[in-house]
Amino acid sequence: MSVADFRAELGDIPQEDNPRIVQQRSRDHYWYSPVLKAKLDHVSAEVVVSPRSTEEVKTVLRAAYRHGVAITPRGAGTGNYGQAMPLSGGAMLNMMNMDKVIEIKRDRVLAQAGAVLEKMDHETREAVGSELRFHPSTYRMASLGGFIAGGSGGVGSVRWGGLRNLGSILGLKIVTCEAEPRELGLVGEDVLKVAHAYGTNGIIVEAEMPLAPAYDWIDVIVGFDAFMDAARFAEAVALQDGLLVKEVSPCAAPIPEAYFNRHKPYLKDGQSVVLIMVAPVSMDSLALFVDHHKGEMRYRADLATEDEKRRLPPIYELAWNHTTLRALKIDNSITYLQTRYPTIEHVRRIVEMLGDELPMHIEMTRQDGVVTFSGLPMVRYTSEERLEEIIRIHEDNGCNVFNPHRYTLEEGGMKRTDHKQLAFKREADPKGMLNPGKMVAWENPDFDFNAGKAWLFDGLNAVR
Ligand code: FAD
Repeated sequence: MSVADFRAELGDIPQEDNPRIVQQRSRDHYWYSPVLKAKLDHVSAEVVVSPRSTEEVKTVLRAAYRHGVAITPRGAGTGNYGQAMPLSGGAMLNMMNMDKVIEIKRDRVLAQAGAVLEKMDHETREAVGSELRFHPSTYRMASLGGFIAGGSGGVGSVRWGGLRNLGSILGLKIVTCEAEPRELGLVGEDVLKVAHAYGTNGIIVEAEMPLAPAYDWIDVIVGFDAFMDAARFAEAVALQDGLLVKEVSPCAAPIPEAYFNRHKPYLKDGQSVVLIMVAPVSMDSLALFVDHHKGEMRYRADLATEDEKRRLPPIYELAWNHTTLRALKIDNSITYLQTRYPTIEHVRRIVEMLGDELPMHIEMTRQDGVVTFSGLPMVRYTSEERLEEIIRIHEDNGCNVFNPHRYTLEEGGMKRTDHKQLAFKREADPKGMLNPGKMVAWENPDFDFNAGKAWLFDGLNAVR
């Protein structure tokens, strides 16, 4: 590999090689995990390249292929399992210069991969009164391409499911890494070859996403003395077809009082809460529903003063992985898991077994039409062994864990090869230049996921 020869072929495409800046841009939020922090802290690329057009992406990938330089694509770098960490060094491909919204229709939007999700919503709201169906809680920073390649769902998933569902991504335009890079259009089920593949088998340059009607969503916090009452209420809200909600998230005490600093004046010590975003048309019905469930309305943004609203972060920035981020700012021994609890009884059992070692945080989502308890519980971390034990306790009790303490696609997901993604990598990245080390099936096809060992990418040693 010759990074110098690679760079010489890039013409006037912006490059950055100041080691301090390159190191900053070689990081995502991998430090959410103490396990990944120990493994990935030393990782850095050698140069950051920032193409401004699809043609420039092709120029970069042509040179990368020719000179054997690893390419790690990056949006805003908010992924939190090391997806955008350049395990083999090489070049970071910063996609944030490609940030245009190309076309807006009432029910869909076409944009470049570096478009920031919040900015996309501003434009679509203004043009046609529509917004993205769902977005990660990193809405204000995250890019469209990064969300599709590294994320799964978020605020709005209680109604619209996740990125994996057919119809959640209408089309992708990608560039391959070959002697002569190609532009390929993927639609229908083919988008799943590249969605949530961490950029290992194609660089997304454009995406078309479906839109939903936009509302002036109202932030609401409801308090309950017992967490299981909060969880029951959250499930009931998500199941109420007439209530138009975008976010429903029960958080167990002491999460709110300990970590939701700016909302503290509205909270009651010892209470668990349910965070909700509701459309104005459903606010009165929601208030009635809160009464029926004997909850306490702790905060309603529609009754707050302008000054209060200015001082408070939006409620979605208390939810999803922001819940953990707020805790980490106060207590750096906190980490988290990603789980799925098949029923409320599973939630109850895990809460009873693990107590305050696992402060419970759930996101209500819809998966294949079923309202589901998607867990993002915090973990009071003591050791890697205990973390593995907590994972085992979940699995032994019939709950799924998507391990966020692994940087590979398979180990963080379903612990098995995605053959469609692997086959597409053979076609689109025959030399394995794109984000090396993230797809076990490519690097080590014989790896046994059931042997109970974490896979370690050899290339990691080379960048020490
Ligand atoms: P990056 O982190 O830059 O990249 C993510 C992955 O995509 C990497 O593997 C990268 O190599 C690849 N990639 C980036 N751009 C491209 C491209 N153009 N083509 C191909 N591959 C590409 N995730 C959720 O799903 N839901 C949430 O609610 C959520 N909340 C979060 C809250 C916090 C506080 C944090 C830190 C993370 C959260 N995440 C969430 C994870 C992450 O923020 C999102 O997935 C986000 O959408 C990633 O966007 P990004 O632009 O930062 O991508």
